[in-house]
Amino acid sequence: MSFTNFDLNVKLTKSVAALGYQQPTPIQSEAIPVVLEGRDVIGLAQTGTGKTAAFLLPVLHKILSSETRGVPQALVIAPTRELVDQIFQSAKDLSKYTDIKMMTMFGGAPMPAQLRHLKRGVDIIIACPGRLLDHIQRKTLDPSTLHTLILDEADHMFDMGFLPVIREINSHLPTERQTLLFTATMPKEIRRFTEELTSNPLTIRVGRDSGLAKTVSHNMYSVGDGQKKGLLLEVVNKIGKGSAIVFTRTKRRAKGLDEFLKASGAEVTSLQGNLSQSKRRDAIDGFRTGKYKVLVATDIAARGIDVSRVSHVVNFDMPDTVEAYTHRTGRTGRADSLGDAVSFATATDRQIIGRIKAQLSLTFTELPMPGGLPKAPSSQKRPDEQKGPRRGKRPVRGGQRNQSRGRRNYRGSRRSSAREAV
Ligand code: AMP
Repeated sequence: MSFTNFDLNVKLTKSVAALGYQQPTPIQSEAIPVVLEGRDVIGLAQTGTGKTAAFLLPVLHKILSSETRGVPQALVIAPTRELVDQIFQSAKDLSKYTDIKMMTMFGGAPMPAQLRHLKRGVDIIIACPGRLLDHIQRKTLDPSTLHTLILDEADHMFDMGFLPVIREINSHLPTERQTLLFTATMPKEIRRFTEELTSNPLTIRVGRDSGLAKTVSHNMYSVGDGQKKGLLLEVVNKIGKGSAIVFTRTKRRAKGLDEFLKASGAEVTSLQGNLSQSKRRDAIDGFRTGKYKVLVATDIAARGIDVSRVSHVVNFDMPDTVEAYTHRTGRTGRADSLGDAVSFATATDRQIIGRIKAQLSLTFTELPMPGGLPKAPSSQKRPDEQKGPRRGKRPVRGGQRNQSRGRRNYRGSRRSSAREAV
């Protein structure tokens, strides 16, 4: 399969070639013909699958085929500024041989510049929900000319509480239109939402049911909290030419870890919610260009970052949900390159690890602690091995002995092998 099979405008196939895309990714092969037919689509695809070009190419083709220019024809809504920026960049790259005009819209950016842009005329708007609704309500944007609506990362929009805003935006949009909705997961709230927004959609699902990229290996270290920093240094020192995103649970932990890694001589930056837009951009651009090899971030701060060369995702703190695990690890192994996901799992992570394994049918590869690092404290059991506390029962005599024998077996016969399926 090649991009020429889609009969796209030659200006678009030229830009695809200039970007070095040799063949369509699975979501592109499936979605592009259907979107070109004009049908609504629900794309169950995580970030990293090539979904942005899957919706942009047919939309750009449609605009090139129309006589109209300079009035909004397509609207892309995405949950974060970073994702809006990233879609905008892709749209610019893909349309560089055309005269299609586009703009971004998000809060925090100056309103006058956006108003000037709208006055000059645009064909595509890529927006975050809040500022977009602002423009519609102030009547600085007339949405009546739109023929295509794209919602990207709908599950994140739901997580961030945006669904009511999008329902309100939708009430101002033409009902005669094509709608494309992309989501990595399909909780029931999103299912209901897709039914409201789309009409007779075709659902396209790529990758495994779990949404995990096949090119990522999932590794785990069983650690105590006090061992995490030392282990992270070891992991970071071994990434060679690659780069790593390190996830922490809180902004404070992200900041602390950034300072720790800097003090240890690592080329590191961090993304935390409190940063100004220009600092966030510096961090992302610096990471993208290779100035920084490590980016420390929380889940929210890392949303929408598209950096294609991420070789490692490190769960310094395990995520709270299976969806977050899918999203985090989707930052590596993009567009069929290889990636490593490394999880630092403590005893308190045993529940989430069990859920990840069960829901994603995932087998973690247990890695031994690198030489020189202290072993896990003796009270530390492999997180997925621990049973919950026995409520109302005192420990039985001899239980301790049995438990340590079990652990010895585990260490002796399983943990000593370098890469062992867990
Ligand atoms: P996305 O899932 O849209 O965030 O895309 C992930 C990455 O894959 C981006 O860096 C794209 O530039 C890249 N990409 C998209 N389509 C292709 C393709 N057909 N071949 C190679 N890389 C691609």
